[in-house]
Amino acid sequence: MVTHFACYNTSARAHYCHIRVNRAGETIKATSEPIPACLSEAERILVPNKLFSFGYFSHMETNIVMSIIRATLLAFLVVLFSSSALHAESASDGTTFDVASATQAYLDRLDPEQRAASDAYFEGGYWLDLWELLYGLLIAWILLNFRISTRMRDLGEKVSRFKFLRVTSYIVQYTLIVFVVSFPWVIYRNFVREHDYGFSNLDFPDWFGEQLIGLGVSLVMSTLGIALIYLVIRKAPKTWVIWGSFAGIAMLSFVFMVSPVFINPLFNDYQSLSEGPLKENILSLARANTVPADDVFTFDASKQSTRISANVSGLFGTTRISLNDNLLNRTSPDSIQAVMGHEMGHYALNHGPKMLISFGIVMVIGFAFVRWAFDRVNKSSWGIRDVGDIAGLPLMIALFSVYLFLVSPLTNSIIRINEAEADIFGLNASRKPDGFSEAILGLSEYRKMKPGYWEEIIFFDHPSGYNRIYLSMQWKKENLESSVED
Ligand SMILES: [Zn+2]
Repeated sequence: MVTHFACYNTSARAHYCHIRVNRAGETIKATSEPIPACLSEAERILVPNKLFSFGYFSHMETNIVMSIIRATLLAFLVVLFSSSALHAESASDGTTFDVASATQAYLDRLDPEQRAASDAYFEGGYWLDLWELLYGLLIAWILLNFRISTRMRDLGEKVSRFKFLRVTSYIVQYTLIVFVVSFPWVIYRNFVREHDYGFSNLDFPDWFGEQLIGLGVSLVMSTLGIALIYLVIRKAPKTWVIWGSFAGIAMLSFVFMVSPVFINPLFNDYQSLSEGPLKENILSLARANTVPADDVFTFDASKQSTRISANVSGLFGTTRISLNDNLLNRTSPDSIQAVMGHEMGHYALNHGPKMLISFGIVMVIGFAFVRWAFDRVNKSSWGIRDVGDIAGLPLMIALFSVYLFLVSPLTNSIIRINEAEADIFGLNASRKPDGFSEAILGLSEYRKMKPGYWEEIIFFDHPSGYNRIYLSMQWKKENLESSVED
């Protein structure tokens, strides 16, 4: 048995050779004089693991991957630095309205004990994210190391001779196993902890029922999504990193599009907001800002939790604005208008399509990382045939999770910058700086109000409460002054 090994050296681009080796690792033929580093690489990776697909890496593709990675690092730095603009403090100009003390006056309305609790809740989340990653990696290692994954694949191959059914049979087994083994963790994080902090209104049977609905949705969605990615890997083994990302974006768009119509109603009851001045004000705000909404929805979020929130969901034809009943019942009409202005900002500024593009780029890099790392981490004893073998799914997901964890400051910053844009849009549209600040105080129940500078960049996917109120007070000051001048 003879195979090819493409040797490349990214730090010295001039060197490139194809080596033909046998199973014992002896060189039979080389297109150019192989350097010792290449030979030892061939012995280290190719022969012990029998990874014959390594030849797919060409000199050109490696350069493309490296260029993409370099470009992302650059983009990462640009995003991090531009986000620092959110913290710009205004210089004092001697006018009577002091932005910092007006901001502080809002923060002082919060009970210190309650603020300590929300800080603890939010900061605890940083650690939980890390433990969750490690727990996921442990599950992947158990599935691979004890060859449970290859047995799942073999079972699928017995069930059907059709590739698609074999793959989907594996994904269904995988989804169910992961659901069961991660369930104790999910109970702790999403049920026990939420009750401890007083955020959840669900008793265990209702909560468990929702988990089962979620499992059903994820069985359908993950089966379709993962099967599609593996189809792309089989059809385009050399370029799947790029086509797989297109497939991923298509899947994300599909989920965004169907969720307001098919998924969200599985969990909550969506009703048209009753007629009255509030609805008329919101629709007027929509008309004034090119948001083609002819209805506003409200949903019974209080069934699950005490949190106030609102959202824009859907994509293209299914976009809709929904406010949760906690927002409706616990805040003032000014706050609701301000929050609606923010949500309309997401729509008017085309944040949906922009986010898809941003996350498409994040996904390309992620797949490039997975492809690069897969052969390096994979062990022959795990019995995975190659990167296109569905039995390697736990490894793929483990690598992708590590990647997402590492780039979370970048993804958080991408979202946070969009949120900051929507904040500014919302203030200009609704002209309710105090209403917005009051709504932000309501969010402080579950979000730390005043994090450190880097803490906000790394962990926050929305601007901190302090910065949002500061922005509102700045807006108030500038607009109060202009109205005085007029
Ligand atoms: Zn938002």
